[in-house]
Amino acid sequence: MFQEAIKHYLTAHHYDSIDLKSVLFDMDGVLFNSMPYHADAWYKVMAARGLNLSREEAYMHEGRTGSGTINIVCQRQWKRHATPEEIEEIYSEKTVEFNKNPPAERMPGAWEVLKKVKEAQLIPTVVTGSGQGSLLNKLEQNFPGMFRPELMVTAFDVKYGKPNPEPYLMALEKGGLKPNEAIVIENAPLGVAAGVGAGIFTIAVNTGPLAPEVLLGEGADILFPSMLSLCEAWEELVGTLHSFSSRKAD
Ligand code: CA
Repeated sequence: MFQEAIKHYLTAHHYDSIDLKSVLFDMDGVLFNSMPYHADAWYKVMAARGLNLSREEAYMHEGRTGSGTINIVCQRQWKRHATPEEIEEIYSEKTVEFNKNPPAERMPGAWEVLKKVKEAQLIPTVVTGSGQGSLLNKLEQNFPGMFRPELMVTAFDVKYGKPNPEPYLMALEKGGLKPNEAIVIENAPLGVAAGVGAGIFTIAVNTGPLAPEVLLGEGADILFPSMLSLCEAWEELVGTLHSFSSRKAD
């Protein structure tokens, strides 16, 4: 069932093969079940200022920088850019609101997928728009020994952020990879757009409330309804990807 998707990818991006070496994971909504907290925090902080941003719309903006999201809402409602002071205030209020929640738990299936990635001799990397100071500790606590900090891309590395392909291009550069040597795992429309824009085979896992068409519409090559279902299909998926390798024995 994955053959057609891979053939389509190869044609669209003008590659003859996929030589899989690395799996690039988005963090919020893929590795951690943190999106309900983010969406709720955005909704509450905006509402306190009379700004309308529903929880569901927050999922549509997932992956955008904080200032990007704030500006979109301000433009729509106040017909002007947010001032730098407003951006700083709203974003820090959002962080305070988010931190009222208990630490986000691992997404069900994420640890199991990562173990399979390692067993397949592939390198897992995190590519996130998050800039939380505790990010490295949080990853190491929840996914011990899985990620190499020097390969990771976070908010501190990038200028534009998703949906710009920049974060994924940077991950390729850090890993010494070509686009057809990695796959992306993303849950958000803007993240999918960034992976596709970087020329990487992009797997959507629809862990939030959005219609699957939203993620497929951004160009996702394959969609799973959850990390658990990706985990179940992993062997078949990777086996099919390996069958498109230029190194495969004839
Ligand atoms: Ca995400």
